[in-house]
Amino acid sequence: MLSSPFVDEQVVLGNYDGEMPNDYIEVNGIRYAQVDGGFISDDDLMKNLQPIQHGDIYNKIPVLAYHRIAQNEFERDNSFWSYTLSVGKFKDDMAWLADNDYHTLTESEAIDVLLGRTTAPDKSVLVTFDDFYGGWIGTGGLEDTTGIDQTGVNCVDIMTKYGINAIFFLITGNNQISDEEWTILGNLDHNQFALGAHTVTHPAISQLTNDEIYDQISDSKATIESRTGATVRTFAYPGGDRNDIARLALRKTGYELAFNFGFLHNDTRRTVPDTELTESITDGSLSSYNLNRKEVRPDNAWTLPDVLTNDHTPKES
Ligand SMILES: [Zn+2]
Repeated sequence: MLSSPFVDEQVVLGNYDGEMPNDYIEVNGIRYAQVDGGFISDDDLMKNLQPIQHGDIYNKIPVLAYHRIAQNEFERDNSFWSYTLSVGKFKDDMAWLADNDYHTLTESEAIDVLLGRTTAPDKSVLVTFDDFYGGWIGTGGLEDTTGIDQTGVNCVDIMTKYGINAIFFLITGNNQISDEEWTILGNLDHNQFALGAHTVTHPAISQLTNDEIYDQISDSKATIESRTGATVRTFAYPGGDRNDIARLALRKTGYELAFNFGFLHNDTRRTVPDTELTESITDGSLSSYNLNRKEVRPDNAWTLPDVLTNDHTPKES
């Protein structure tokens, strides 16, 4: 290794499970991360995180992402439009899933399916929620500043009535969740309503330092576990924004799956959303920390039956 800065080959680690990388160097066209005890090539560092080859397993399930459910719905030019669905529409969605014999996977089932350990039952779908809003658990009210009214909205009650399983991805900081709400979340049946993490402060992950990424991912998991007694196994990237450092941090802190929205944060495709989104698949084209979801929004072209019965996979051009 003529141009190598390595003192000897001992410092190039083949396997690594230590702290997050501090820095990178490039040697003979290969990028190495500087970690405790030496250097490790990107390929080794990212083992199991990068896309793997297609195999025999070809499970494919749609993963739905809801945000806030409220009494009201907004016009399309309102900034709350895309993240606020009316409770009537939400109730229709849940009833439709039940009436049409959809199997809503529990978090535990979803992990087994998406990691390729089991095959998904027919008509499987995974229901998820991002951020935390009082309307999920019946503690929401009327917000004077926004006009958003979650009074009397209780998604847990609705889903219990229809036998729907779901994952709630929580922002643990920003005073988003009150003591009373933590108690309610802790008392949920966590097999039916699993608690996943959605960072501490909802940052754009790719804009953070490595340490900040690690803290957002690790601290949110620790807070949910200590406040509710639930075990946090899954994660959702705020805004779908993600990078390899986040995936390393997720692996290191013991998460099993992470979900995005099928596009990158600043991806211009976001301006033509939805029809570009693909399902979460275990055919190897995505890793377990890079799973796609479909946002369910008050958009005519994107009602639940349309999401689940039509093929929205991007076509080859
Ligand atoms: Zn979010």
